[in-house]
Amino acid sequence: MIAYLDNASTTRVSDEAAAAAMKAMTENYGNPSSLHRIGLNAELAVTEARKIIAGALGTVQESIFFTSGATEANNTILYGAAENYGRRKSTVVASSVEHPSVEEALKKLEGRGFKVKRVQPRPDGRIYTADLMECVDHDTFLVSCMLVNNETGSVNPVDDIFAAVKQRFPDCLTHTDASQAFLKLPLKASALSADLITVSGHKVHAPKGIGAMYIAKGVRIAPAFAGGGQEKGIRPGTEAVPLICAFGAAAKSQAASIDTAYKNALQLNMTLRKALDGLDYVTVNSDVRTSSPYIINFSVEGIRSEVMLHFLESRNVFVSSGSACSKGKRSRVLAEMGISEEDADSAIRVSFSKMSSWGEVDMLVSAIKEGALTLEKVK
Ligand code: PMP
Repeated sequence: MIAYLDNASTTRVSDEAAAAAMKAMTENYGNPSSLHRIGLNAELAVTEARKIIAGALGTVQESIFFTSGATEANNTILYGAAENYGRRKSTVVASSVEHPSVEEALKKLEGRGFKVKRVQPRPDGRIYTADLMECVDHDTFLVSCMLVNNETGSVNPVDDIFAAVKQRFPDCLTHTDASQAFLKLPLKASALSADLITVSGHKVHAPKGIGAMYIAKGVRIAPAFAGGGQEKGIRPGTEAVPLICAFGAAAKSQAASIDTAYKNALQLNMTLRKALDGLDYVTVNSDVRTSSPYIINFSVEGIRSEVMLHFLESRNVFVSSGSACSKGKRSRVLAEMGISEEDADSAIRVSFSKMSSWGEVDMLVSAIKEGALTLEKVK
């Protein structure tokens, strides 16, 4: 048995999703733009998937645009909004703990002359509405704030933040990267007052390489590419039909089990926290009151993340050190939260999925205890 507890990095593709991809590749292989029946069938399959993703976000299929993942969605949204809305206004307000696919794009926008104001989280890891609102003014054309932080699981009060933004600055666009929240926590575009939402397939048992953008009616995002007009010209290129169908199938089953999966993650999270509470060399960095149950970040005193990660691996337990996207680099997110360098250097991220089990948590806890003893001795 293995304990795969790195589901915020990526998840196992579900059997339904794999079957849907296979069907699209071998039976329903037409080009959705072709005028004949084979093409039409592919187009229908894409529409079906689009409706599922739209339903999961509480919106209509016209607002959903498929991309190659959350990275492309975030980049398209930031650059596309800057191009269309950043002529007379020049400021973007964002959290200081965004995923690199937002943060690095923001740096590029700064290089092009835009002003970026970054809002720091408080020690609980969250962005507070009052702190963010202090940065928003009449020059702000976009506010971008992630829903669930990928390293700590902190859930930002994005509904409250965006409602405050819209109340004072109705023309300001609101964007949330919901990659770690989609189909895990309740998420409706309208309830969030969001104009733009990013989601990713491979965090919810679809294959890697597929994601989507929600773009509210009336919001114009300049396309990143020029091409054949697919996705209403916003993301041209022949649709990735197998990936889109797999995303639809994965999302459908994830949506059907969202409540039971949440309860499962919460129980596993609580069990793990209880076990870690008993270990005086462990500090939990994810605030229990304000974090998603799917992610828990903790530090094992005096043992570097990578060293512990590889020890756990030797016991068939697979986790992440901070974030999989910043291999070997000290976590910017933990630093922004005010966590010490020593704790950041020994941070481990455990993340669950609907497939996670008690047995896996058990394996993890035993391996941490063994690792702490063994590695302490060899130091
Ligand atoms: N945003 C967040 C919050 C993420 O966790 C990730 C995946 N690590 C991404 C964006 C990038 O997603 P993708 O791999 O689909 O490009």
